[in-house]
Amino acid sequence: MSQAAQNCSRSPSEISLLAVSKTKPISDIIAAYQAGQRRFGENYVQEGETKITALADDYPDIEWHFIGPLQSNKTKIVAEHFDWMHTVSRDKIAQRLNDQRPTNKPPLNVCIQVNISQEDSKSGVNVNDAATLAGVISQLPNLKLRGLMAIPTATDDIRIQQQEFASLKSLYDQLQQQHPSIDTLSMGMSGDLDIAIANGSTMVRIGSAIFGER
Ligand SMILES: *Cc1c(COP(=O)(O)O)cnc(C)c1O
Repeated sequence: MSQAAQNCSRSPSEISLLAVSKTKPISDIIAAYQAGQRRFGENYVQEGETKITALADDYPDIEWHFIGPLQSNKTKIVAEHFDWMHTVSRDKIAQRLNDQRPTNKPPLNVCIQVNISQEDSKSGVNVNDAATLAGVISQLPNLKLRGLMAIPTATDDIRIQQQEFASLKSLYDQLQQQHPSIDTLSMGMSGDLDIAIANGSTMVRIGSAIFGER
């Protein structure tokens, strides 16, 4: 990450590391915690809840991020247990998370998942609908709009990756003008973190490069 930041003259301190611990045992999370890591990402609601509950007493300063697809009947678990939610792409999900967020907790930090590859099969809001959804989220008192997230097309073609990350960055810059709470561009995984950082990522989501293959 440091090297990637230096290569494009950014300060490494602008980019944070989300350790993606999905499918990995709690002992791996504790090992990473002991090495200084505090942000962890989980994809599956039930698995995430189990880990959060198990670690809550001894590791209260872990920040938990939900980064998987979410059905509307599972929103309550995310609203009650997680600190961040990266994959909001519908009004209905945003509304439910807002309504189910416990009032003794700070607002849930939210990123809008954008379908940057524009394939119909991919999850995320279309680029053209992101501003409307941002407007909806910004009105919900128990959610805090923090930014955008995307999973690019799975490809080895650097030009396509470059293009998709650049288009997300440009949407991010636009929305930030209207919503000053936006400070997070969640893009980049183990295989493409260099290109993501070169295109303005502020949070990379790294699983296999930390914990090994799944
Ligand atoms: C699994 C996953 C990651 C991490 O992927 P790696 O290639 O293992 O780094 C990042 N983001 C999302 C949304 C994921 O599902």
